[in-house]
Amino acid sequence: GRGDFMGVPHPRSVRVNPLRAGRTVEAVVQLLRSETLPKEWKGVSKATHDACRQVTQDPLLPDVLLLPPGTDMHNHPHVIEGSLVLQSRASCMPAHALQPKPGWTCVDCCAAPGNKTTHVAALMQGKGRIIAFDKDPSRLRRLQATAQLAGAVDVIDARCQDVLSLDPASPEFAQVQGVILDPSCSGSGTVFTRMDHLLPSIQRRQQQQLQQHNQEQQHQENAETSGEGDSSEEGLSDNDRDMTEDDGQGKDSDTHEQHHSMEGLEEGLGPADLERVRHLANFQTRALRHALCFPALERLVYSTCSVHKEENEEVVRAVLEQAQAAGFDLVDPFPSWPFRGLPLFPGSEKLVRTDAFRDGTDGFFVAVFARVKKDKKEGS
Ligand code: SAM
Repeated sequence: GRGDFMGVPHPRSVRVNPLRAGRTVEAVVQLLRSETLPKEWKGVSKATHDACRQVTQDPLLPDVLLLPPGTDMHNHPHVIEGSLVLQSRASCMPAHALQPKPGWTCVDCCAAPGNKTTHVAALMQGKGRIIAFDKDPSRLRRLQATAQLAGAVDVIDARCQDVLSLDPASPEFAQVQGVILDPSCSGSGTVFTRMDHLLPSIQRRQQQQLQQHNQEQQHQENAETSGEGDSSEEGLSDNDRDMTEDDGQGKDSDTHEQHHSMEGLEEGLGPADLERVRHLANFQTRALRHALCFPALERLVYSTCSVHKEENEEVVRAVLEQAQAAGFDLVDPFPSWPFRGLPLFPGSEKLVRTDAFRDGTDGFFVAVFARVKKDKKEGS
């Protein structure tokens, strides 16, 4: 039931950036567990320092580290210098799902603020090229700053352009083997994790309500309840507005600006939300179709931080036949991951979903298209 949400701890995740860290992930874990930060480093609280001693490696994503819920790493020196990146566990899945090889040429279609772009650069060990598009100039500047911090400027070619306006058949894209498409979405999957900092007050409130409930059980004659039951929802929408500055946890202001409704998530979308989601899905489908047209494409990752099937399975379903005709098919990027796409069509079992309640991260969706039919010249 709803109460479960309150009990789900969301571990904080950080990604090790090998382009800056200069040591293995295991060595970073050891360092975090043992290092004593200089006293003059004011930005790191005792709580954060203690939390770092409990760091563990994510079982699925080898470069992702997990820290206790609520750990504030924003001012940690490794974050400041770019060797650790604040990024949610789920938003680290797409780059791994791409499995880019050093030396590949990749396109990131909707790239800003660049968390996935720099992750792909890291997985390519800084070798190769990523052409990163974003149509929003100010967000593109953030992408450039992200690339700078990550030590990936030499690999990333950032361009302010609408991805639908590029021509995949142009000679400059002839080598493109990998594509990341992480388009604007409703962001409905990040609602719960973005409330993390509200958890203490929500929990307090929940406890109060529980106590109140118990008292009411005992004193049934006093069953009168106050009308304050909506205040946490108000807190949520305030939070939505406050969070428009990205905190770098892989959630971007593009989604934060949107309105999120709790009812929509639980009981299906209301007419206004459905309209917005359909509008987004229309762009997502067009962008996906477009991105599948790069002639040398080997692997494409489509991802959203939405929980709505309209932006996820239905977008995949809309292009699948055309993709298959062009020699691609859905492949499973994380066979050990138990949670799959909604069973709306054959192949949906290859799709990956995460859930904020169940998996302690954002609600996310990942689909991978891979070339299965080889060129005539290679024979098949
Ligand atoms: N992949 C990014 C990351 O991990 O940091 C987050 C991308 S965000 C969900 C979507 C981005 O797509 C926004 O920055 C938005 O400006 C951009 N965008 C939306 N429509 C676009 C278009 N037609 N062409 C290029 N970029 C677009």
